[in-house]
Amino acid sequence: MILTRASHEYYVLDSPTMSDAEYDRLFRELQELEQNFPECLAPDSPTLRIGAEPQSQLAKHDHLQPMLSLGNAFDDEELRAWEERLVRLAGGDVAKSGYTAELKIDGTAVALTYENQLFVKGATRGNGIIGEDVTVNLRTVRDVPLRLHESAPKGRIEVRGEIYFPFARFEEMNEARARAGDPVFANPRNAAAGSLRMLDPAITASRPLRFFGYSVAAPDGEELPFETQTELLDALVQWGVPVAPHRMRAKTLAEVEKWAYDLEHNIRSELNFAIDGAVVKVDSLRLQDELGVVGGREPRWAIARKFAPDIAETKLLAIEVNVGRTGALNPFAVLEPVEIGGVIVKLATLHNEDLVIAKDLRVGDWVQVKRAGEVIPQIIAPIPDKRTGSEKPWRMPKKCPVCGTPVTREEDEAAIYCPNIACPGRQLEGLVHFTSRGAMDIRGLSYARIQQLVEEGLVKDPGDLYGLTRDQLLGLEGYADKGADALIAAIQTSKSQPLSRLLNALGIRHVGSIAAQLLAQHFGTLDAVMSASADDILNVRGIGSTIANGVVAYFSNPAGRALVEKLRSHGLTFTEPRAVAAGGALSGKTVVITGTLPTLSRSKATAIIEAAGGRVTGSVSKSTDFLVAGEDAGSKLEKAKTLGVEVIDEAELLRRVKSPATSSA
Ligand code: NAD
Repeated sequence: MILTRASHEYYVLDSPTMSDAEYDRLFRELQELEQNFPECLAPDSPTLRIGAEPQSQLAKHDHLQPMLSLGNAFDDEELRAWEERLVRLAGGDVAKSGYTAELKIDGTAVALTYENQLFVKGATRGNGIIGEDVTVNLRTVRDVPLRLHESAPKGRIEVRGEIYFPFARFEEMNEARARAGDPVFANPRNAAAGSLRMLDPAITASRPLRFFGYSVAAPDGEELPFETQTELLDALVQWGVPVAPHRMRAKTLAEVEKWAYDLEHNIRSELNFAIDGAVVKVDSLRLQDELGVVGGREPRWAIARKFAPDIAETKLLAIEVNVGRTGALNPFAVLEPVEIGGVIVKLATLHNEDLVIAKDLRVGDWVQVKRAGEVIPQIIAPIPDKRTGSEKPWRMPKKCPVCGTPVTREEDEAAIYCPNIACPGRQLEGLVHFTSRGAMDIRGLSYARIQQLVEEGLVKDPGDLYGLTRDQLLGLEGYADKGADALIAAIQTSKSQPLSRLLNALGIRHVGSIAAQLLAQHFGTLDAVMSASADDILNVRGIGSTIANGVVAYFSNPAGRALVEKLRSHGLTFTEPRAVAAGGALSGKTVVITGTLPTLSRSKATAIIEAAGGRVTGSVSKSTDFLVAGEDAGSKLEKAKTLGVEVIDEAELLRRVKSPATSSA
């Protein structure tokens, strides 16, 4: 009953109320019960089904071959037990075949029908036999080839794979939905499934859905031009179908185990999309055929090696508010400690008040918490079924919880601010930002060390850092001679950082590293920035009124000016060297970067452009010379196209910075 309802919520409503781990646990329990007591096996048991019955509003589609589910292995021991079963059935053929291992994309499965290489029909998995026709929606997914390349078979074939929703755009979409008062999606998988099954294809088109292929089906009796899963994946690439990265071919299961470990612990956190494990497949397609299917539900020849769940259920004990370096009030959840993937989680970010309201989180709720890779743990959703009635809705306080100043909220912004620059709540985060790599880059000052300096009363603001002495450090726990000397040296070195870094480090609202560079290059000295009016600042190319007002507000505040004087007394650099290499390959060019570049980080790409004399700005306008676009480029790409601004990729950027003069062709 519980599993059937959870399946309906998951597959049909795209709005689960149970975590996958909890579902998997109950499912496994039911399977074991049915094995031990076959008389308990109900004809409509979830263990006999795939997915859910197709919804009535979308047309139905009969699959060429059944679309199956997968058996699960939750650890290496279960993986080995799977191999033992294979060897019992097929003996030495298993070793001869070897394995292919792939990412298990956490999206929603689709079958794309091609006739004469043309995309004619696309359907969801549905109950495995009958799916839902989502052809028009799939046509809007840019990864889905509308025509396969010449090397693809001419007859009717189905390319199968997963539609997914990239992480980068997920939070963005949820924030926009929260602002518009729409319900937020629990996770990228539900966002993918929900977006794909819209009745209005225009809505699907507005979502950044992507596709990876992993299998091919042909009508009964028809041969496909490959003998192994590895060849199948290679063929998909040849036909122009995107295939997920990091796949591997292995002779032994031990190699797969090693790869899966690396995938779970290192690679997973770097991916731009969700995976919930790896899929291990017997490589030989002939052997796959011989091994067949178990119970009409899952192939014997493949298994999902599920990863430790990155979602757990726990209680939301309180919602507290932290004051960020710019004064933004950040709500965060205090949780009953819970283990997720080997780490104890006690706190989770809540982003802003709108999201708390959109998710209907109440203090005292049971909640699903997710921790993925290096990302700060997040609350996905409350579990309303577990409410007792004593849970309390939450609203952002009207006064700063640290200094009591009434908070402010600007139109069109989700964040709520404490406007008091001297608010002690801003100190710690402000110091962390001040010393960070992109700002003054003081090596050796970890978060814990800064916290220690603040707690010991040695440092209140960034100016105090420059007055620290060796003896003061040696008096603290955890400092030996060498460590103290190194830190003092690092602090001294930072004094010569250019003005652009200092302006970024101060934590002026809306001034990040790009705005700081524009201001520093335009005004040249800190005194000139400080005495500039909002109108003067608006003359800086690339700077708008939000930033201009932020700068003026900061320096007209006595606390802001006092900090500057303190830093001046310690001899920090208040000037910007004329950095731009005249005659550099991008000299005089205004460049915008968007999306994820294949190899360069944003800051690296910016540094490369600037080193070549170019200027990086945040938004596309008529004066933009060109846009460097990577994966998942969104509105900036659209705008560039509308304005006729040239769009180039990373490879072309690298070529241009190397050439002596910039070609704009
Ligand atoms: P599954 O998602 O565990 O595995 C099968 C699916 O994996 C395939 O249909 C395919 O879509 C996908 N897949 C991704 N990458 C693949 C690759 N490289 N090769 C082959 N397949 C690949 O199985 P399922 O039957 O779709 O769903 C069961 C799972 O869904 C459960 O284990 C649970 O985690 C989750 N679920 C959760 C709830 C809930 O309430 N939270 C309810 C129902 C199901």
